[in-house]
Amino acid sequence: MLGYLNAGLDAIQARLAWVATDPVDWKFYLQVCSWSVCLFESYLLLRQFPLYSKTEPPPVLAEHFKPDTFKKSQAYGKDKAKFSLFSGLYKQVIESLFLHYGLVAWSWKAAGKIIAKLGYGQEYEILQSIAFTFTLLFVSGLPSLPLSVYQTFVLEEKHGFNKTTPALFVADMLKGWAIGFVIGAPFLAGFLSIFKWAGDRFVPWLMAFLLIFQMSMVVLYPTVIQPLFNKLSPLPEGDLRTRIEALASKLKFPLKHLYEIDGSKRSSHSNAYFFGLPWSKHIVVFDTLIKQSKPEEVEAVLAHELGHWYYMHPSKLLLLSQFHLFTILALFPAFLRAPPLLRAFDFPPSVAAKPPTIVAFLLYQMLLAPLEAIVAMLMNAVSRRFEYEADRFACELQTMLKDEKMADMGDRLGRALVTLHVENLSTVWVDWLYSAYHHSHPTLTERLRALERYKAGVARQKDVAQKKEL
Ligand SMILES: [Zn+2]
Repeated sequence: MLGYLNAGLDAIQARLAWVATDPVDWKFYLQVCSWSVCLFESYLLLRQFPLYSKTEPPPVLAEHFKPDTFKKSQAYGKDKAKFSLFSGLYKQVIESLFLHYGLVAWSWKAAGKIIAKLGYGQEYEILQSIAFTFTLLFVSGLPSLPLSVYQTFVLEEKHGFNKTTPALFVADMLKGWAIGFVIGAPFLAGFLSIFKWAGDRFVPWLMAFLLIFQMSMVVLYPTVIQPLFNKLSPLPEGDLRTRIEALASKLKFPLKHLYEIDGSKRSSHSNAYFFGLPWSKHIVVFDTLIKQSKPEEVEAVLAHELGHWYYMHPSKLLLLSQFHLFTILALFPAFLRAPPLLRAFDFPPSVAAKPPTIVAFLLYQMLLAPLEAIVAMLMNAVSRRFEYEADRFACELQTMLKDEKMADMGDRLGRALVTLHVENLSTVWVDWLYSAYHHSHPTLTERLRALERYKAGVARQKDVAQKKEL
């Protein structure tokens, strides 16, 4: 099995052997590609922009929107679109300049100086790699800091969503960096050790390493990391708790804990989700959702979420992402020892002659970025399909569980979705191409229309069943 895999990988590597020998103007290729992606995204925003000037909501939604709320949602959408257009171009200009002036090569040199100060020489490649990664992330992230300050304290504030204080904002940022370092540094050390140990045969080992890492994050994130930012408390006894527990037990969902999260501490955007290992799951509901919707509507949102679980959507997405990862790693060996690649990004010949693994991997990632935009679009298409499936699941629960009390689940879900959209001032007029590229969820109008279809389908099935009984 492993021999077969390695033969395949060798064949790929042989085909890409030119990467290690031929000088290619990679930097130019990257500039052209990243500008193309950026301009395409700006074009999408320009397609979407006129829709914010519409004065009426789509007919299906007309009854749900007070004229005033619709106006607010359009104004919010317009401001967000303007901001995205500006920040997209701004970030692209900065990135382009960084690329032109060789930020990656500079960061490697700076990392060498940092570890030298600590008394370590160039032979400590893993140490230098860690210093390099964090230097690069820090420097390249700095220019977008004013953008996120503006977004939080001007844009979201203006439309009444911001609940963050400057102190909380700074604390979150510092915590984010600290966590990034605490998790990132050992992760990188492990990642690079595998290359050192397995050499060119790293693919299966690295896949296993990354899978174990992802699994441990599934456990660690909600139990260790999320509590640093939000407070999770058990959902109090009452109508909602009883409903969710009953639903979970009917579906044999292995519900371990049911939490309420104080999402409203930072923002009034709201939702619900579940997480955990296959045999022990936790459900988290945002306090904002509980405040905005009735218990039976929140129950319908949970029915949708449990639809994701029932159809194993998270596992399917994990499988797809593993396949994606495998493709990326399978092509990487050709780039692992390619001096022309490093030369193209301003590395001195002494470093390029024996490329550090982390540098090769990072440059390779940069080259893939334009392709990743297409992959992301395909993943969105898959995710949208899953959303429809979960909505249908909620509608069909009544037949599945033979419970007439769930006959209006589709209506309840529809009402909850509308409330979520109205409260979040989400855009209701969406350009199809813009949506296909950016959205992992169908638009509200699409979902409401589909809900109508599913309800009609269930009603037809009931009809047929009744006739059979007669
Ligand atoms: Zn969903």
